[in-house]
Amino acid sequence: MMGSRKVRNTALATWSALFLILAPHAARAADGETAPARDPKQAIDEAYTAKIQNYTTAPYFTSPLVSYLPASKNVPTPEAVLGDIAGAPGVLPYAEDVYKYMRLLEKTTPCVKVFSIGTTEEGREMIAVAVSSPENLKNLEENRARLGKLADPRTIKLDDAEADKLVAEVVPVYYITGTIHSPETGAPTALMEMAYRLAVDESPYIREIRDGTITLITPVVEVDGRDRMVDLYRWHLAHPKDFYPPLIYWGKYVAHDNNRDAMGVTLKLTENVLNTYVGWKAQVLHDLHESVPYLYDNTVGDGPYNAWVDPILTDEWQMIGARNVADMTKFGMPGVFTHGDFDTWSPGYLMFIAAMHNGISRLYETFGNGGADTQERTLDPEEYSRTWYRQNPPLPKVLWSQRDNNNYEQTGLLTSLHYFNENKRLFLKNFYLKAKRSVMKPSQEGPAAYVLPADESRLSLQAELLRVLEKQAVEISRAKSAFTVSLPVKKEKPKKDTKDNKETDKEKKPAPTTKDFPAGSYIVRMDQPYARIADALLDHQYWSPDDPQKTPYDDTGWTFGELFGVQVARVTDLRVLDVAMERVTEVHALGGVKGDGPVFAINNDAEPALATLRYKLKDAGVEAAEEPFEGGGKKFNRGSFVIRSVNRADLDRAAADLGLQVVALGAAPSVKTHPVRAARVALVHTWLSTQTEGWWRLALDDLKIPYNYISTQTIAKIDDLNAKYDVILFPPVGFSSGPTAIINGMPTAWGNPLPWKNTPETPNLVGKNDSTDDMRPGLGWDGLAKLQAFVRKGGVLLTATDTSRFATEIGLVPGVSTHASERMKIVGSVVGTRLVDGGSPIAYGYDEKVSAYCDNGPIFSLSSIAGARGRRRLGNESHSRPTGRGTVDDPDFTVGRPGVEAPEEPTYEIWEAPPVTDEQRRNGFRVIPPADRARVIFRYADQKDLLISGLVEGGNEIAQHPAVVDVPSGSGHVVLFSVNPVYRGETRGTYSMVLNTILNFDSLNAGRKLAEK
Ligand SMILES: [Zn+2]
Repeated sequence: MMGSRKVRNTALATWSALFLILAPHAARAADGETAPARDPKQAIDEAYTAKIQNYTTAPYFTSPLVSYLPASKNVPTPEAVLGDIAGAPGVLPYAEDVYKYMRLLEKTTPCVKVFSIGTTEEGREMIAVAVSSPENLKNLEENRARLGKLADPRTIKLDDAEADKLVAEVVPVYYITGTIHSPETGAPTALMEMAYRLAVDESPYIREIRDGTITLITPVVEVDGRDRMVDLYRWHLAHPKDFYPPLIYWGKYVAHDNNRDAMGVTLKLTENVLNTYVGWKAQVLHDLHESVPYLYDNTVGDGPYNAWVDPILTDEWQMIGARNVADMTKFGMPGVFTHGDFDTWSPGYLMFIAAMHNGISRLYETFGNGGADTQERTLDPEEYSRTWYRQNPPLPKVLWSQRDNNNYEQTGLLTSLHYFNENKRLFLKNFYLKAKRSVMKPSQEGPAAYVLPADESRLSLQAELLRVLEKQAVEISRAKSAFTVSLPVKKEKPKKDTKDNKETDKEKKPAPTTKDFPAGSYIVRMDQPYARIADALLDHQYWSPDDPQKTPYDDTGWTFGELFGVQVARVTDLRVLDVAMERVTEVHALGGVKGDGPVFAINNDAEPALATLRYKLKDAGVEAAEEPFEGGGKKFNRGSFVIRSVNRADLDRAAADLGLQVVALGAAPSVKTHPVRAARVALVHTWLSTQTEGWWRLALDDLKIPYNYISTQTIAKIDDLNAKYDVILFPPVGFSSGPTAIINGMPTAWGNPLPWKNTPETPNLVGKNDSTDDMRPGLGWDGLAKLQAFVRKGGVLLTATDTSRFATEIGLVPGVSTHASERMKIVGSVVGTRLVDGGSPIAYGYDEKVSAYCDNGPIFSLSSIAGARGRRRLGNESHSRPTGRGTVDDPDFTVGRPGVEAPEEPTYEIWEAPPVTDEQRRNGFRVIPPADRARVIFRYADQKDLLISGLVEGGNEIAQHPAVVDVPSGSGHVVLFSVNPVYRGETRGTYSMVLNTILNFDSLNAGRKLAEK
């Protein structure tokens, strides 16, 4: 049995002798490949090697590539910085120490160069370390220029012969990124030691990699999170008998989701890695994670594969993945496999930067202990079972060390690097072919381009979307004149096969239609090397409910045009590419003041920049028009800003910055207005998880909306919330967020306090976020009472998804209930919503149809009776007559008495509360007065219109139910979202639903029409 310590030690002793004696000959094996074995002529570092063996817990948790360390006279080993070897128990270096070592390497060997690639949100440095032969490093620029030609085949006129010449001479770049997920702690030390090996090992196997390939390493991707994690680990070492606080913050904004930002590119780490990957013209991006025993190369993963990647890439996944498993299996390492439950649909993962930029995306899950303790680990049966893709599975129970993890990481990477280097001409040619096929996209598969028209009403949002594409290295052009394209004819599905239908079909054959675009429209050409990412972001997604994959790994839909609320036309007509256009290097929406007069008006088109402007001009008098009006020759929507007492020059500058168009008017419009205030905002987080609210913080910071960041614990401590805040945002909690968890927090009846604060042991923990002496207590019943009092005294509480469920279940919003779904499956999809009450300030600037992000949102139902649950309806109800005399439309007759007509049943829509009946009004103390009833602002679309992008199954359960509800309570409001309006920097089109609530917090009843009874 593996768990037994005695057996392990015996086995270890035998094994350590084995590798030293059996060091194979450093020559080509009979199969023509170089053997993975050390150079017997090169001395080994005996002490370091002994420790490797000591810290490795079983003979099969290592390989001939990492079971020794070559000695070097000049180059220090990781021990120089770590004080012990890589993977040693109890040793976790800060990013700074990792960098210190990499720079020591740079100083002592010509095979290593360190590059600074940017900083994090908290100002920490990110680096990339290049390891290769001195000659390769000397010729980096020339090599980059050649790689650049393969990366952009237009530069060689798509000439395959020319490409072949380049392929024969260039040195490829294999980019490895470590520890993006902070509790996955092994990669930095593994990469330190691997950099050393690649620089000094004289074995032919390693020398070939060094001479043939540039290995580029970012040892720590989430630097802010790494330093927090090391703090916590040090705290744990200093308090070995205590429970230690869970890592609630990783980066400044998000935790695990930092690996879902490769679409929106809102985090610095994504931007820095993307720029490095694209800037180096790398062929591979290989990202290291730790969760699955012992090495899951999820490169191959499972279906469905992303539908925008080139099939050449999916073949590469299979080649590299299968070879990786084979190599490590031959070393006798158990638990290495490549097929698994990770589907490769969403392009949001960091590694997918490569997949979307013509490279090869790779990801390892190795087995980590979340720190550097050596621990007994027991696996679940599904983890150790032998399956068709895992013939040599992990063991049910083992003693596992950080060194074991480092052995697996390094062995996987070194065999990958070797295989890649052996086949680099193939992969380089593929790199070129994928780029070339991307350039040929318009004629090969389409579309020809995406057009973002110049007559867009939300120009600042359009600019935001284009800036995402710019960050993705996509080329953007602008039409010099107006143009017209023809639109593809959508084939109608043939209806019932009857003669009648056939004839009418013939008559109704749709005529080809055209679409005009004004001059200045943006054109994203698809005949460019990085067309793939633009295509993937702007296109629609469809995940079939019949897909064999029943558990999508992440979001299933993300269409950026829909989520940004701007027009994006998918154009297949190739003539669009002949339109006279010019490249745009910096997108900026035109803004500023036009016209003359003392009053200024800005149309409200639900652009988030309006809120930024309001806060920027804090002292200006800003009003919102409650009805549409005309002025200065322009039409203004409901909610448009009317600004007085402002310096014109200040307004002009601010509006120009933000891309907002301001019209000066001679006089204010005569419509009713109310003040638009720079509300005092608190954003509340729990100490359970900060994952999902982080995206809200990022959005507010990005928009420069000030707010206080407080925890549920703080709520309970503030006596008068209204004295400090006008609006409390309670964004989704995510993980373990049931109502009782929000109130109770973590168990306090046993265990020790879990502090989250800066101390000498933990100097990096808090960063710019929040702190507490004990993470365990939740909101508490006191806190809940404070929150309720805040609302009743005029405050506005805004909740979304699980916090909306919290508000309904805990009784903060009488008349609104949530229902559990039965079969509904909406997995991170874009869905349709419909405007119900355009008079509400929350809806200012929105159209009748709004696309929103939904992830199995709560199903709201309304009732006008306090304490009653709203009825949930699944489609139309049929009140059929009973069996009896007459036809189906006749009333039922009773023999022997005159017929009586029943009073007509009141009709109402699914999103509405059923009308209050006469029976309910008898002694109706439970009847909620009309002014206190919930007001539906948006509802989900009808079932047939619900799916915009992604997966919607069982959509009838939520179709037409409320999506955004404003519930008056005392003199304040609770505003409930079923959709998540602020998510991953991708949903900017729905940000204004939140911002409108903030700006109009004391006028939310504007435009409200009350029921009569
Ligand atoms: Zn991970």
